[in-house]
Amino acid sequence: MRLEPAMLASLIAAGAEQVIASAPELTRLDQAIGDGDHGANMKRGCEAILNKLDAIVALPTGQAIKSLGMTLVMTVGGASGPLYGSFFIASGEAITAGRRLPEDLAEIFAAGVAAVAARGRSRAGEKTMLDVLVPVLETLRVDAGRPDLIQRVRAVAGESAERTAPMLATKGRASFLGERSIGHIDPGARSSCVLVHAICTRLEAHS
Ligand code: ADP
Ligand code: MG
Repeated sequence: MRLEPAMLASLIAAGAEQVIASAPELTRLDQAIGDGDHGANMKRGCEAILNKLDAIVALPTGQAIKSLGMTLVMTVGGASGPLYGSFFIASGEAITAGRRLPEDLAEIFAAGVAAVAARGRSRAGEKTMLDVLVPVLETLRVDAGRPDLIQRVRAVAGESAERTAPMLATKGRASFLGERSIGHIDPGARSSCVLVHAICTRLEAHS
């Protein structure tokens, strides 16, 4: 699979459209353990991306992905804007620096995850988006080259988002709730899962 502009556009649109469709759910999750804006934040960012999708995918792949990140930083706001923004900026930079798709996908994804962890001063286990992104990265590394990689990534993303429910939040707004953060899925973990699932579905349709 080579990432032609049409393919890149299709993947980006799939992710953005699915997050927009999930905004009500993300809002509900953030109402439970945050301030209720995660759905609106992500919807705003994804709409901005869809509005300039043609210009984004006309760029070389690394710059296109970096431009996704910059758009998210400028439009999403909250904690999640700079964090998702960092993910795509660092992933795009990894590609610009010479990493290739699809063969270096795990390294490219790793650059994004490292940027989120650095920006958020966070790591897996703190009930955040990293509790989906880190297990997905692990699967990309361990199961690279397997014919069922996409299905495995999909399953891990879903299970990992669910697994944030019993966790105690120690980062972000949810951490202000202490023990009361327990029992709810983390909104950012869920939005990461929605993004990963949308990409998996689109890749399956293309393969
Ligand atoms: P805000 O918390 O500012 O209202 P959002 O509601 O848009 O921003 O995003 C909240 C999500 O951001 C959380 O559910 C969590 O997944 C993620 N998040 C918050 N702080 C951090 C952090 N330090 N590291 C990683 N992810 C974080
Ligand atoms: Mg919020």
